[in-house]
Amino acid sequence: MRFDLHIHSCLSPCASLEMAPSAIARAARERGLGGIAIADHNSARNAQAFATCCAREGVAALFGLEVCTAEEVHALTIFDTVEQAMAMTAWVYDALVKRVNQPEVFGDQPVVDADDNIEELEWRMLGFATRRTVYEVGEHAHALGGLVVASHVDRPSFSAFSQLGVLSGDEGFDAMELSRTADESRWRERTGAMPLVRSSDSHLLADLGLVWTEADLAAFTVAELRRVFREGATTLSPPLTRF
Ligand SMILES: [Zn+2]
Ligand SMILES: [Zn+2]
Repeated sequence: MRFDLHIHSCLSPCASLEMAPSAIARAARERGLGGIAIADHNSARNAQAFATCCAREGVAALFGLEVCTAEEVHALTIFDTVEQAMAMTAWVYDALVKRVNQPEVFGDQPVVDADDNIEELEWRMLGFATRRTVYEVGEHAHALGGLVVASHVDRPSFSAFSQLGVLSGDEGFDAMELSRTADESRWRERTGAMPLVRSSDSHLLADLGLVWTEADLAAFTVAELRRVFREGATTLSPPLTRF
């Protein structure tokens, strides 16, 4: 199965408004992705619509959020159920800076249903850091039954390496993510024995399916991802030569 664990919907202020869950699920099916995870900044409020749309298209789904930790590390927290992702969202929201979004500056944050109707505009500013540390995020996501993947570790900002320098191993990452253009063999030297995935970090529909991770999964679940990570049985798509 080819899968992509890092897709932003229209709820992310920086993502295109074309990223409705319905359009994401359709594009994923058309481009041969068997499993996809929603990963909006600090929120999973579009996860329920995403679940419905993925089921409609016959694409397996996981539900997450890309938490911006107190250290400004981006970490994907990924769950089997919408309920788990919403429990994580509530815990992240409790420690978000109480600031009202300015759509004209940061972008709109629509919560939508499975038929592209806007239910609400999220008022909280989702693009800023929560006060939860990377260590707390790891512990809480695991306690809820989720996986934690360090986002785009090859990037010079908002990555575990850029923000923390040398890692202790206590950060709670189950895997690390390479972005589209990162050279796998070069980054293997830095990431050591840590399992790797490659994701699109899609903010536009055109981004979907450009890169992926492949593994022999019995089902698209947290337990199966844990197993292939443990066995080192993931294959990454080749990097793009241009972003
Ligand atoms: Zn990120
Ligand atoms: Zn992202």
